Amino acid sequence: MADFDYDLFVIGAGSGGVRASRMAASYGARVGIAEERYLGGTCVNVGCVPKKLFVYAAHYREDFHDAEAYGWDAVTPGFTWQRLRDNKDAEIQRLNGVYGRLLGDAGVSLHEGRARLLDPHTVAIGNAEVRARHILIATGSWPFVPDIPGAEFAVTSNEMFHLDALPERAAVVGGGYIAVEFAGILAGLGVETSLIYRGPLFLRGFDDGVRAFVAEEISKKGVKLLFDTDVKRIEQRAPGDLRLHLDGAASSTLDAGLVLYATGRRPLIEGLGLEAAGVELDERGAIRVDEAFRTSVPHILALGDVIDRYQLTPVALAEGMAVARDLFRGEPAKVDYDAIPTAVFCQPNIGTVGPTEEQAREKFGEIKVFESVFRPMKHTMTGSEERTLMKLIVRSSDDRVVAAHMVGPDAGEIIQGLGVAIKAGATKAHFDATVGIHPTAAEEFVTMREPVRT
Ligand code: NDP
Repeated sequence: MADFDYDLFVIGAGSGGVRASRMAASYGARVGIAEERYLGGTCVNVGCVPKKLFVYAAHYREDFHDAEAYGWDAVTPGFTWQRLRDNKDAEIQRLNGVYGRLLGDAGVSLHEGRARLLDPHTVAIGNAEVRARHILIATGSWPFVPDIPGAEFAVTSNEMFHLDALPERAAVVGGGYIAVEFAGILAGLGVETSLIYRGPLFLRGFDDGVRAFVAEEISKKGVKLLFDTDVKRIEQRAPGDLRLHLDGAASSTLDAGLVLYATGRRPLIEGLGLEAAGVELDERGAIRVDEAFRTSVPHILALGDVIDRYQLTPVALAEGMAVARDLFRGEPAKVDYDAIPTAVFCQPNIGTVGPTEEQAREKFGEIKVFESVFRPMKHTMTGSEERTLMKLIVRSSDDRVVAAHMVGPDAGEIIQGLGVAIKAGATKAHFDATVGIHPTAAEEFVTMREPVRT
């Protein structure tokens, strides 16, 4: 023990690293943490948190319009991007401070700078060196941009949070979480937006019904969807004037002031000194860990995006707690990855928990699918064409509700509660016996009686 400066040294003060270090310190461990960029990691600085603030901002466009039907006089709202960006920056700065205080109050020593493993127990941060009994790598991930000619003219989600100005027209490349969320943000903020996806339908991995429904809803909001389309190259005609050369059915070029690539995120491992410590990667380039998050060097652990299981903050938090309990309380590390609820904050939102209809059919054989599509009550007066989709999947053998999918306002909020019910093993009979809250959209989940498919 005396040989080591710390019982645990964490590299990366994002969601998972901060949670693990605080928990470990609360169990009496001597803990240090290194951070080279910003406290709170991607989630707080260039991810979940500022993204959600932008989503709120984008929604006002419709709210101003809808208000008229509710008796408010029409206004022609102006929008100032820089004010939104700067207010967001101030809030993020506040959160950075909160994270710093949380670490300090927990007794975790913060080392600002880039950390590098020198050997299996030694970490260099700038000119300093520390020795630790356990090392936890929680460095997260970084946006991946495919290597096409002109890729240097594209931005990633990192830059989207700090733009000097919004363009008149934008192209978003990709069909996952970030692409659909930013397409919604940009369109909501008044930018003429196209989303370019290489396959026939975006949001691969989500329920097919949800994917098709979202495509329709997003189109209604003005986002132009270009599916089955590849970007061959990006030409800069002048600064802020880009031309995308496309390979697809719809058109061969597309002009935009901004091109956002949202084509996945890769584990951030460059320059970490993994070889020096003997830490191995898996075939996808993520750090290979076992069930207890131990790498090929057992006292070096890794979690979160850098192990590339689920790139989700709440998963990294769960993994962080599991690691701290395992190391300093002797409780076996165990994270239950089954039925992780998740939301995509496009407009309207997606909320989902459990398998897709296709996966459920394959896994369970006999299933019942309950589905409802309706106009949200708010829009009975606004003239909006927006629709909500709700879907429950029930395993026929034992009546268990195995999945709930929703596209509609507050889908994430609603699905979080259903996630608990599904985790607890609720049956369709439990849903049927639950009295609805009227009038809400959520009550639809307890009033769907007849399956649409079996
Ligand atoms: P995703 O993995 O969700 O999506 C990547 C998209 O890029 C897919 O549509 C993929 O297509 C496409 N793609 C990948 N490579 C290429 C390529 N070479 N050329 C063209 N298209 C390509 O990644 P994101 O970047 O959207 O987000 C990263 C992760 O961050 C997400 O997986 C999610 O876990 C997390 N996240 C979570 C959020 C939330 O919880 N609300 C919000 C934002 C991010 P294909 O499907 O065909 O492979």
